[in-house]
Amino acid sequence: MDLKSGLPFWLIKNGLAKDYDTLDENTETEVLIIGSGITGALVAHFLCEAGVKCVIADKRMASTGSTTASTAQLQYEIDVYLHELIEIIGEEKAAKAYKMCLESIFTLQKIIGQMGIDGEFEMKSCLNLASDKTGANTLRREYKARKKHGLPCELLDKKQLKEKFNIDRELALYNDCSAIIDTFKLCTQILEYHKKKSGLKVYSHTEIVSIEHKRNGIVALTQKGNSIKAKKVVAAPGYESENLLDEKVMRLHSTYVLVSKPIKEATFWNEKCLIWETARPYIYIRSTADNRVMVGGFDEPFYDPKRRDKLMARKNSYILKRFHKLFPDIQIETDFYWCGTFGETKDGLPFIGEHENHPNMYFALGYGGNGITFSVIAAEIIRDLYLGKKTETELFAFGR
Ligand SMILES: Cc1cc2nc3c(=O)[nH]c(=O)nc-3n(C[C@H](O)[C@H](O)[C@H](O)COP(=O)(O)OP(=O)(O)OC[C@H]3O[C@@H](n4cnc5c(N)ncnc54)[C@H](O)[C@@H]3O)c2cc1C
Repeated sequence: MDLKSGLPFWLIKNGLAKDYDTLDENTETEVLIIGSGITGALVAHFLCEAGVKCVIADKRMASTGSTTASTAQLQYEIDVYLHELIEIIGEEKAAKAYKMCLESIFTLQKIIGQMGIDGEFEMKSCLNLASDKTGANTLRREYKARKKHGLPCELLDKKQLKEKFNIDRELALYNDCSAIIDTFKLCTQILEYHKKKSGLKVYSHTEIVSIEHKRNGIVALTQKGNSIKAKKVVAAPGYESENLLDEKVMRLHSTYVLVSKPIKEATFWNEKCLIWETARPYIYIRSTADNRVMVGGFDEPFYDPKRRDKLMARKNSYILKRFHKLFPDIQIETDFYWCGTFGETKDGLPFIGEHENHPNMYFALGYGGNGITFSVIAAEIIRDLYLGKKTETELFAFGR
């Protein structure tokens, strides 16, 4: 699958990471992880910390799938608002999903600290702006639902928004429990950390083309004809799950991102908070560690790389225009832009755990705008499943 085009900022900023060998012999391990993106890396982290021997196989150069294209905003609020999710899956489950997302941000902060890496993790505040009257009503309903379930948020009115952020909008939801990272850097740091500390083996350019399910495990075959024998296999293939799962669980979309030239510190909006809006298509905004503005959005509801790429320059100008409308006093110029594919599920929640047709296999499919928080949740659940511990198996189950 063609996951992205253009110049993803993270690859330029960090340069290509260390590459790993391609598997050229048969091997054996406890857990085989398919995919070396942020999901595979986090799954490896939690399993390695529990003393489980892992091998990661990736068909690309390590960590160069969607993880390099991400804008990497960590928010507990998912694509589907809490009050809408309550209508789809019920109050208790919806609140639980939101709380797990909130918790996952602090979990990530904690494990980054424990590993002594940084991944440019930084806690941030976040504004969800009402784009119009309907948006304002949506946010009022959302505020009630979040408050009821003890989720951190404040409602800011027009005056407060103007005074504090110099933003001219009717209403916004505000929280100070969000974060930003450099996902590509974090991902490659985790792989290197566990390669050294836990003997994690990573193979790049090693595609898994088939999985044979045995009574006590699996045997995976690579495109070069080598086998990997394991007790369990974790599928963390990002949006390329079609060869590993006999079920369609998401719809693919295209999305666009630009990164500005660095701007002066004093030019930024207050708190350099994350910003997104109720409008569809929306834009979402963050800053980078070197004082650039990163703006994404203007999604299109299709997967068609040629069509997607043709729109890239036009989308860049739409995004710039929308940014300048919001912040007429902050002039930015594009330095990099790219586009990517992402997947969305009906209820905005990921698919994590076992599937009845795939014994000895766990899935970590963190689809949606909050894929990275879902990666953290998936990694913890899969570790618990492997260790036979009680864990969340219903909320993100297939066939729910
Ligand atoms: C433009 C854009 C902006 C985004 N912004 C955000 C955001 O702000 N916040 C957020 O939380 N999320 C965001 N996301 C989503 C987030 O980036 C993804 O959820 C996350 O990167 C997915 O990581 P992954 O490891 O699951 O997938 P990937 O990074 O794609 O890794 C999967 C890997 O599996 C490998 N693979 C697949 N099939 C096989 C096979 N058969 N054999 C071997 N290897 C295989 C691939 O080569 C790939 O490297 C964004 C996504 C995009 C595209």
